[in-house]
Amino acid sequence: MKETLSGRVAIVTGGSRGIGQAIVLKLVSAGASVVIGGISDTSRTHSLVLQAGGSEERLLSLKTDVTKVEEVNRLVKSTIDRFGKVDVLVNNAGISRDALLLRMKDEDWDAVLDTNLKGAFLCTRAVLLHMVKSRWGRIVNISSVVGLTGNPGQANYSAAKAGLIGLTKTTAREVASRGITVNAVAPGFIDTDMTRGLSDQVKERFQGLIPQKRFGSPEDVAHVVEFLTSPQSSYITGQVVGVDGGMFMA
Ligand code: NDP
Repeated sequence: MKETLSGRVAIVTGGSRGIGQAIVLKLVSAGASVVIGGISDTSRTHSLVLQAGGSEERLLSLKTDVTKVEEVNRLVKSTIDRFGKVDVLVNNAGISRDALLLRMKDEDWDAVLDTNLKGAFLCTRAVLLHMVKSRWGRIVNISSVVGLTGNPGQANYSAAKAGLIGLTKTTAREVASRGITVNAVAPGFIDTDMTRGLSDQVKERFQGLIPQKRFGSPEDVAHVVEFLTSPQSSYITGQVVGVDGGMFMA
């Protein structure tokens, strides 16, 4: 099979598990060199890539908290030092801290906005000049269906994910003439650590909202990210692609 990302260099934030890990594996198998940014331990993803036949030469793991500008800038500098360029950025790192708005704590609002929205801004700003200079780039922001629909108990999370869609569209317009595309993926209910802890009652309620009547897998999201980072997607920018079993139809 043709490697769509051969010779390309990609950064994936939050690559230690879940959707980020599936994206790392997918981009490596598409031929990219991949930098795994993770706030804690990225060694499992690193080992999985090697087990799947990826080579150490095309892999770099770097502890990076996306809320810290120095760590983000170091991530990008290390990528340039090691691979000479950055072609693809996947802003995947994210957290949730759910509570009804009336009971939501300031620190839970701040933590979710800082990680899910400001983190994407910091990473995008840090890579953009390199992409502009090489006149090629692909940025994919992992938003969420709740950024489009809202969801009780997730004022912070849905605001951050809706903000990410605004960031996607504005950045897309600013760099469209430079060969850079910027798109968002809006997953629905995906089976990862983030959703595994929810009660059966909440899971049943979600399942009732999904026309396909099943949860998605991290690989379902990774396939779409691979396409949006490939040369074949060059005429798609500023879009929000749902991966949600039909949960939200615009
Ligand atoms: P997980 O909780 O499984 O993984 C989250 C990832 O983000 C981990 O790698 C985590 O690192 C990393 N992370 C958290 N905080 C930071 C930070 N400050 N800096 C860098 N990395 C950080 O979540 P998912 O895989 O489910 O989610 C991935 C993305 O997809 C998120 O943006 C999420 O909002 C989004 N999404 C998920 C959906 C779902 O149903 N699962 C639905 C819609 C969107 P560590 O392992 O070190 O904690």
